[in-house]
Amino acid sequence: MMKESVNIIGAGPAGLTAAIVLAKSGFRARVYEMSSDVGHRLNGDFQGLENWSSKKDITELFKDIGIETNFLCVPYYGGTIYAPEMKPAVIKSERPIFYLVKRGTMPGTLDMGLKEQALSLGVEILFNHRLDKFDGKAIVGTGPKGADAVAVGITFNTSMEDQAVVVLDDGIAPKGYSYLLVNQGYGTMVTVLYREFRRENEYFERMLNFFKANMDMDINNGKRFGCYGNFFLRDTQIHHDKLYTGESAGFQDCLWGFGMRYAILSGYLAARSFIDGSTYDTLWKRDLKPMLETSLINRFLFERIGHAGYRYLTKRFAQGSPCGFLRRHYNYSFFKHLLLPFAKRRYESRVKDRNCNHENCTCVWCRCGEKACP
Ligand SMILES: Cc1cc2nc3c(=O)[nH]c(=O)nc-3n(C[C@H](O)[C@H](O)[C@H](O)COP(=O)(O)OP(=O)(O)OC[C@H]3O[C@@H](n4cnc5c(N)ncnc54)[C@H](O)[C@@H]3O)c2cc1C
Repeated sequence: MMKESVNIIGAGPAGLTAAIVLAKSGFRARVYEMSSDVGHRLNGDFQGLENWSSKKDITELFKDIGIETNFLCVPYYGGTIYAPEMKPAVIKSERPIFYLVKRGTMPGTLDMGLKEQALSLGVEILFNHRLDKFDGKAIVGTGPKGADAVAVGITFNTSMEDQAVVVLDDGIAPKGYSYLLVNQGYGTMVTVLYREFRRENEYFERMLNFFKANMDMDINNGKRFGCYGNFFLRDTQIHHDKLYTGESAGFQDCLWGFGMRYAILSGYLAARSFIDGSTYDTLWKRDLKPMLETSLINRFLFERIGHAGYRYLTKRFAQGSPCGFLRRHYNYSFFKHLLLPFAKRRYESRVKDRNCNHENCTCVWCRCGEKACP
């Protein structure tokens, strides 16, 4: 017997995961998506599903929550890291450090795979439906609304072999990093800035010059893109019957922007709260909050270590067991958490919840202080 209907706003990984999980439990799920298809926010770029923060492989975790990997999902067991004034370090891992996925509107992307799964379960997706206001119960997965990190990059065809390269250098990516991912003749090169957003073009050129100078590379049919990421902390993700998921909830890896895991898991948890009648806040606070706060502390520390720290990190990764090292640093530690108040103070303007929460507010997202809410 079909159970109640659930409205979902946004067909990103968070919203589509919620829809899939709900549909599998017999709910009628309806997704409102403002674009004409899924994946419009992304650009055919490669991204990495991080596989270090939990002992369970991310693909196993997907199986557990009912998500199939019907999209390009290639394990990468290592790569090369460049840090200033040292030789490139080769990183090797026994388990996949990450799974390479493609994002965007073309076949094989994570977005298309999730869409196909949702449609095959009878989920209704209403494209070209932008909902800025919604009165009543809904799951919101509308993605980032502010820029706490800016990414500028290029996708291209190439004859280079499959590889992953990371560069830690404030002269190329201030307080962030640049990366090159190549798979089967297609590549993505991005620099992620946590400061100096207005100089994005300059940093893009610097990244390009760096890779050209250090690697034998050919770039054909290059397509440039720019995008951003958003993180903040809230005490509750339930506002006026709406459950906030993914980046619309500020769920993001504040350190390096590996937000897909957060998006998918929070979509799953929001669905579970409908299925079990459990409280969404209890679920995400148990499963996501410790890591989210740790990632903010990690960002606070990362911004302080400078080039000497980047060299240390690079050497440490090259010593072996990079996943174990990252897992320790991505998960809760009592002593590290003593730094949380300092990290929150440092990023006060970023982590502040600027939703209005005023009585009878129906905004899917608003920043009343910025006069977006009537
Ligand atoms: C360049 C770049 C590289 C990245 N690399 C990685 C990586 O390597 N690893 C990783 O884990 N993460 C990465 N991320 C982050 C990751 O892409 C996001 O965290 C993730 O996509 C967030 O998913 P989401 O479902 O919350 O939101 P989104 O993917 O943004 O989806 C939100 C959807 O909601 C729709 N929408 C928005 N507003 C409305 C509205 N009012 N009404 C209806 N629909 C609406 C949008 O059109 C969109 O389809 C990267 C991000 C960028 C920009």
